[in-house]
Amino acid sequence: MEFQTFNFHPAISASIKEAGYVTPTPIQKDAIPTVLLGRDVMGLAQTGTGKTAAFALPILQRLMGGARGRVRALVVAPTRELAEQIHESFGTLGRQTGLKSVTVYGGVNVNPQIQKLKNGVEIVVACPGRLLDHIAQGTIDLSHLEVLVLDEADQMFDMGFLPDIRRILKQIPAKRQTLLFSATMPPDINKLASDILTDPVTVKVGNTAPPVTVSHAIYPVEQHLKTPLLLELLQHTDTESVLVFTRTKHRAKRLGEQLEKAGYKAASLQGNLSQNRRQAALDGFRDGTYQILVATDIAARGIDVSQISHVVNYDIPDTPEAYVHRIGRTGRAAKTGDAFTMVSSEDTVMVRTIEKKLGAPLERRTVDNFDYSIQAPKKDAEFARPPREQRPPRKQTDAKKGAVGSINPFKAEHPGSKPSGRPQTARPGAPAGHAAKVIFNSSRRGK
Ligand code: AMP
Repeated sequence: MEFQTFNFHPAISASIKEAGYVTPTPIQKDAIPTVLLGRDVMGLAQTGTGKTAAFALPILQRLMGGARGRVRALVVAPTRELAEQIHESFGTLGRQTGLKSVTVYGGVNVNPQIQKLKNGVEIVVACPGRLLDHIAQGTIDLSHLEVLVLDEADQMFDMGFLPDIRRILKQIPAKRQTLLFSATMPPDINKLASDILTDPVTVKVGNTAPPVTVSHAIYPVEQHLKTPLLLELLQHTDTESVLVFTRTKHRAKRLGEQLEKAGYKAASLQGNLSQNRRQAALDGFRDGTYQILVATDIAARGIDVSQISHVVNYDIPDTPEAYVHRIGRTGRAAKTGDAFTMVSSEDTVMVRTIEKKLGAPLERRTVDNFDYSIQAPKKDAEFARPPREQRPPRKQTDAKKGAVGSINPFKAEHPGSKPSGRPQTARPGAPAGHAAKVIFNSSRRGK
């Protein structure tokens, strides 16, 4: 199937071609005809599946007819970065249409937004808080709205935006087309969907499993050795651009600095940065100025850098859904990518939960030429573990009872082992918890 099947307006088809899209992704195949028919859609898809174009293209098609200069499509997204990306996609795919979009989010001067809204736009991509400000100030007119998109609804829920969303819903025409996209379906989103969607068509991609193009591995390591192990991995792995996740802003900042000190072109992206610096970090990562970006979950939400070759979970995420989101940053749009997750003994439960979600054990790897026996220096204790309140709640588990062999396998299986030579390939079929050895696959990155 090719894009011609959808019979888009020639101005849109030309931009699709320019963007280099040839074949629609599965979510595009399912969603585009449905959205073109004017139906409400519940889209279960994570970032990286092509979902932005899945709603942007049929919206552009709709907007080609009808009045110009009034807000007819509104996309609400959880973060400024995601809003910018969606706006850019509208810009790319609608380049020849004459349709205009504007982003509306907080943390930046409101006046340029007011001016652009005044000048007349057809598409608004907004974060909830600033949008409500504009509504309250009367600087946006949503009375002509025809299409509403709620993107990454589960993340908006996680970030506490649901009351804001409900407030926004009260301010827009009830007669409209509504598209709701979410990577997961927690009960509150299910409830929201049943409240706001009329006879929706559900489109679902891959049961929200991580992209199949990603190869996953976990690296058991003690907290204080995570940075040296990361440096070792970076040194021996052919990486294009690496997105590293930490659990806290502090850890993101500090790791970014450590990587810089080690000679890498690295930046950190975390909520304490001003919008300008966040944008500079993101732009620098996109254009290759930075090879490594260290980020927290919220800061990295929706980041679309198509050429990300590796995602490294310096800290394991708190939920399997977050794992899927993070991993969705690599292997985007059918490209291949690697996902490395560092785990220490306290991560036992989460590793099992993630494996359950993936339906398969994650391959354990150790790095042969790495000394796992180095003791934690006392002064590093602060960075050695996340602050207690930021660790996920721990259940009474086998780990607590002392059965941690499966989680700290290098201890059990490499007692005092000396590093030797290059890492070797993991033993096929190694059971969960088995410390296998690995060759860093440097020839497979075919992007
Ligand atoms: P998204 O899931 O919307 O964040 O898109 C992920 C990436 O896939 C973006 O870089 C898009 O430009 C790219 N993409 C979207 N649709 C296609 C397509 N049909 N063919 C190739 N790349 C695509």
